[in-house]
Amino acid sequence: SRKYLIAGNWKMNKNASEGVELTEDIVSQLGNETSVGVVICPPFTALESVGKAINESNIQLGAQNMNPEASGAYTGEVSAEMLRSLFVTHVILGHSERRALFAEDDAFINKKVLAALANNLKPILCVGETLEEREAEKTIDIVSGQVRKGLEGVTADQAENLVIAYEPVWAIGTGKTATPEMAQEVHKAIRSVLAELVGEEKADKIRILYGGSMKPENADELLAQPDIDGGLIGGAALVARSFVGIVEAA
Ligand code: 13P
Repeated sequence: SRKYLIAGNWKMNKNASEGVELTEDIVSQLGNETSVGVVICPPFTALESVGKAINESNIQLGAQNMNPEASGAYTGEVSAEMLRSLFVTHVILGHSERRALFAEDDAFINKKVLAALANNLKPILCVGETLEEREAEKTIDIVSGQVRKGLEGVTADQAENLVIAYEPVWAIGTGKTATPEMAQEVHKAIRSVLAELVGEEKADKIRILYGGSMKPENADELLAQPDIDGGLIGGAALVARSFVGIVEAA
């Protein structure tokens, strides 16, 4: 059985001091919860201070992006080693906003996944179809392709450090959630691709998170699905009570 993982993606919200305030709120409401893994992913500029604020808790720290190169002339970018030096353990890669707004393709995302794993960071690889792709009944093809291309070159030994997040693009920030059955169908398909890539035993241990308008009111039924192992939370992660409510539902 897989331990649930609830990750908060703050996106471009909260400066360092606002981030500490939200984190302290989350920490105090969460208490010593250990049955569920919890990760919060603030912007780069808040990583250090939020990292200090979670120090005594069981919450882990994640980043929202990174560059695959180790160092050099890449203005504006941040490396895996820089994240590690701030005690970051997870990194969201290939989020649909990065794919759509910053033109990241599967090959570039794959480099990031490999660099993260090589540096002991756990990638949270995001995949998901657009509304147009869903309506054209291409969902499983698109998502399977993103998983295969994103994970090219990943070895079975590295599988235990992988996290996948299925985020239907049309459900992000829209208030529209995939029905639990719709999400389960895709999660199951993702797990079978993972089984092809790293073997069934390892694939059974990989957490596949759902993301897209997840909130305390719909978390229960999504998390009850056999292949939904947690959530990647956007809007609701910016409100301590909602985020903790989702953790409590897990
Ligand atoms: P919302 O929860 O705001 O829909 O965002 C989901 C998401 O993109 C998390 O990465």
